[in-house]
Amino acid sequence: MGGSGAQVRAVLVTVGDELLLGQTVDSNAAWLGRELAAMGIPVVRHYTVGDEVAAIQQAVEWGLDAGDLVVVSGGLGPTPDDMTRDAVADLLKRPVHIDAGLLDRLKARFAARGYELPRSNESQAKVPEGAEVLDNEVGTAPGLVFDTERGVVVLLPGPPRELKALFTGHVVRVLRRRFGDALPPVHHRVIHTTGIAESALTEEVESLLPANRGPVRIAYLPDLRGVDLRLTVSGLPEEEARAWLERVETAILPAVRPWRFDASSGDLAEAVLTLLRQRRMSLATAESCTGGLVAKRLTDHAGSSDVFVGGVVAYANELKVSELEVDPGVIERAGAVSEEVASAMAKGVAARLGAEAGIGVTGIAGPGGGTVEKPVGTVWMAAAIEGKVRTRLERFVGGRAAVRERAAQACLALLLRSVETMTEPPG
Ligand code: ATP
Ligand code: MG
Repeated sequence: MGGSGAQVRAVLVTVGDELLLGQTVDSNAAWLGRELAAMGIPVVRHYTVGDEVAAIQQAVEWGLDAGDLVVVSGGLGPTPDDMTRDAVADLLKRPVHIDAGLLDRLKARFAARGYELPRSNESQAKVPEGAEVLDNEVGTAPGLVFDTERGVVVLLPGPPRELKALFTGHVVRVLRRRFGDALPPVHHRVIHTTGIAESALTEEVESLLPANRGPVRIAYLPDLRGVDLRLTVSGLPEEEARAWLERVETAILPAVRPWRFDASSGDLAEAVLTLLRQRRMSLATAESCTGGLVAKRLTDHAGSSDVFVGGVVAYANELKVSELEVDPGVIERAGAVSEEVASAMAKGVAARLGAEAGIGVTGIAGPGGGTVEKPVGTVWMAAAIEGKVRTRLERFVGGRAAVRERAAQACLALLLRSVETMTEPPG
């Protein structure tokens, strides 16, 4: 690897009784494993321990034996079951003292919201000697970094949102500074896709890969909404890496083109908003089985108001008639979950709310309500664009939450593809 020294190896320690009891799924370990690997630091072991001083110390001790970096998550809060900081400080023989600056910052943070710092939170200003404090902008427990002769120990809070913010905001920089020379330079390219299953995408992409893909590694990262393809080159200088990424991306383009979308957040809703903004079109939504999920996805993005005018959650048939101008005869004849109704909902909501584009979605999210002809997971979707409608039928698998999530995503995809092909950029 570029002739540099030995590879840096990480050990994860996740702390919490709830992880052992199965009340919380250990998403932190999965996330950290991916992020560290992407930096060129493989995770070689992972321990999960309960809220118990001796167990935490034992795991960190083992971690320092097996790796150069130990990342601990959880147990940094203000309550008596949070003992990670003191346990690790004790293990590494670092006396703990109150950090005046940190205490002031915590007090200021509470004061800004009109509260006094509760006594129990004062413990979060306790810093072990020589530890680097990582400011937590989204919570109260700061991260801590111990640089010892045996390796680096990083303590991060358990709430996933805080852990991620601290890791991306601070830990990456600390690790680059500390291990920089031993870390291979890593270059990525992420291609977002939706509407194609991982297995099918893998097959198509692999069939197009050039025989010599050189140093490019491909990861398929699926979730309910789609599959991200991550191309990675590590250990090569920037220009060479870029050329390899370019070459492989160009080769696989025909396989991904129909499914691909671009969005810096990775969210299809962002791609929809960007495209509609370009085309100077506004959007309204009419949702039945998704209960507003499509509208939620759109409004998750700041600034969506210049495109998204609003939506109607029309669960009851009467509402589809009274608010969306769906013909009651059509509901009677074709059923509420039908192409005709989805289509009428999309057109109706665009007309009622005065938007150029409309989305309609109606389906059977389950677990009840399915029939032989229309089993659970049957969803009709429609995109209306300036009066013309495109529809789509899907039979989604999975439980209620999965069906709804997939349906919302598929609606957004249908709209995106329809706008792409049915309209022109303004001249
Ligand atoms: P807090 O200040 O909230 O107490 P903390 O650093 O003490 O933070 P914990 O008390 O261990 O962290 O966990 C806080 C929350 O984060 C809990 O809801 C817990 O279920 C969740 N959590 C903890 N560890 C993990 C993990 N490994 N994966 C996913 N969620 C986790
Ligand atoms: Mg806690």
